[in-house]
Amino acid sequence: MNELFLAIDSTGYPSRWLSWQDAVTHEVLGKVSYGFGDFEFTFTGGKNRDTGVNSQVTLKSILVMHGRNRVAAHHATIPLSNHALFRRDRFTCAYCGDVHTRGLTRDHIVPLSRGGTDTWLNVCACCAACNLRKGANSLDELGWELLYLPYAPNHQEGLLLQNRRILCDQMELLKTMLPKHSRLAM
Ligand SMILES: [Zn+2]
Repeated sequence: MNELFLAIDSTGYPSRWLSWQDAVTHEVLGKVSYGFGDFEFTFTGGKNRDTGVNSQVTLKSILVMHGRNRVAAHHATIPLSNHALFRRDRFTCAYCGDVHTRGLTRDHIVPLSRGGTDTWLNVCACCAACNLRKGANSLDELGWELLYLPYAPNHQEGLLLQNRRILCDQMELLKTMLPKHSRLAM
């Protein structure tokens, strides 16, 4: 299965995605307090030598883990990838406003050749045509303006950006925790 389980800590704070292998391991080790959500997945393991019965683990799509994970998750930085960037920017070129589902590029607002960094606050989604016209120029030199401002995703947004196959119940939960300025809240 490609779906991931959403792990939340005992205070209700979504902490991370779990592969099904990790989720089953946590369940077997007793680290899962309980599960909820609209989806249920059953995994069948090996045969028990004494009873001859296959072991089975059934897990819900959202798993509440024992303990707190808020501090660790709060300080983690969200890895910058093109996929996450384009989703942050809603597949919209920051310069012309065109929406593209393919062919977008990662533009460095202050070009790398001029000391710009490859970080969330200095990158935006950019169509190929705008990227070509922009080259190594600064926005001032071109008289261009950004149509929207870049921002560094927080932990909750990162969870939304990292998983391409979020189940609707997981999505509902994560969206309730997004900051007000988030473009992912729409
Ligand atoms: Zn463009």
